[in-house]
Amino acid sequence: MKLSTIGQKMNRLTGVRSIMKDIKDTLQANKDVQYINLSAGNPLIIPDVDKIWRKHTNSILDTTFSDVIGRYGSSQGYEPLINAIVEFFNTTYNWGITNKNILVTSGSQSLYFIATNAFCGTDINSDNRHVLLPITPDYTGYGGVVVDSNMIVSNVPRIEKKEKHRFKYHVNFESLRINESVGAIILSRPSNPSGNIISKDELNKIIDAASSFKIPVLVDSAYASPFPNLVYTNMEHVWKENVIHCLSFSKAGLPGERIGIAIGHESYIEVMEAFQSNLNLHSSRFGQALVAETIISGDMDVLSKETIQPYYLEKKKILEDALDKEMPDIPWYLHDIEGGLFGWLWIENLPISDLELYDLLKKEGLLIVPGSSFFPSTDKSWVHSSECIRISLTASNEEILLAAKIISKTLVRIFNANE
Ligand code: PLP
Repeated sequence: MKLSTIGQKMNRLTGVRSIMKDIKDTLQANKDVQYINLSAGNPLIIPDVDKIWRKHTNSILDTTFSDVIGRYGSSQGYEPLINAIVEFFNTTYNWGITNKNILVTSGSQSLYFIATNAFCGTDINSDNRHVLLPITPDYTGYGGVVVDSNMIVSNVPRIEKKEKHRFKYHVNFESLRINESVGAIILSRPSNPSGNIISKDELNKIIDAASSFKIPVLVDSAYASPFPNLVYTNMEHVWKENVIHCLSFSKAGLPGERIGIAIGHESYIEVMEAFQSNLNLHSSRFGQALVAETIISGDMDVLSKETIQPYYLEKKKILEDALDKEMPDIPWYLHDIEGGLFGWLWIENLPISDLELYDLLKKEGLLIVPGSSFFPSTDKSWVHSSECIRISLTASNEEILLAAKIISKTLVRIFNANE
């Protein structure tokens, strides 16, 4: 089989996807082993959330079902969902948006594919523009979406060590280069993997610098308020002309339906809608109808605030307490979990690589994600990028406690062996 350059690029298992394949293979090959799987980005199925999806599914079955599933729709998205988003964001945040500012995509992953390939790469004048990640570590999915493999440039953060085994990343503006060579800027806020929420000032500074070069800034709000609201600190959104605010309904419990939403200036939305129309016509209408119903009824807002957020807030506290109790006297630091689904653990001066640590933990029955894949295009000589692991909060309380014990025991062995 002969593959095109694009075919080869898209055939490659990059970053976290190769780890996920290894985890899948490990689980399949060892069906008798009871692994604690803290690798997943899949949200847990929370019974109260599941109940709401079922309630609205039944309501759709009784009303619009045949029309929803039996007809093609607009590439921009299902109109009742677009209206619901406009109404919600204008009422809640006073953004003054209209239907022209919205595009519904097949999950937010495809939104990043569309945006990066529309705004970045080589143009008709042979000018090449790259994707800039202004603060790494960040979501590895951005690396996979770019058809031209050399299009991601990332900026390493400034690290603030805090008291009691905590740390926090800040945008390193000294090394950040925003100029005409950048086609789009992307960052997750809250961040997957670190749980960081960059401040409003930091975000404003990035957006304003980008605006001078007419660069869109995609703010990936997959974990943010209002839905699914996995935010454990104060967080304010920023809405400006060159911002594309990106939502996902996956972490609110609907990953299988693939619903992502871009809210942005209509000039961006028009380009992305045309791209989507060529790519896949539109996102699944059933999922869109389901999300529309939950927003219009108010259920999505209430669920996010009263069920989903408190659920993961408890998990976050359990992980923090477990690590504080179990971890040995070595230089370890947990990133402030300000939002999202993960704990991000940095072991300074780790004598082995994060991938080797991943293998050792796997042998102990614990699956986590090694951190290095969250640092695309980062110089490997920066040791911090191979000293971190990502621990998912999507597990039972008992599993999280046990995981902390296994991590601690394994690190003691590693540090003792290197004394
Ligand atoms: N953005 C971030 C930060 C994520 O963590 C994920 C998935 O884990 C995505 C986007 C992709 O989400 P979706 O299911 O909407 O494609």
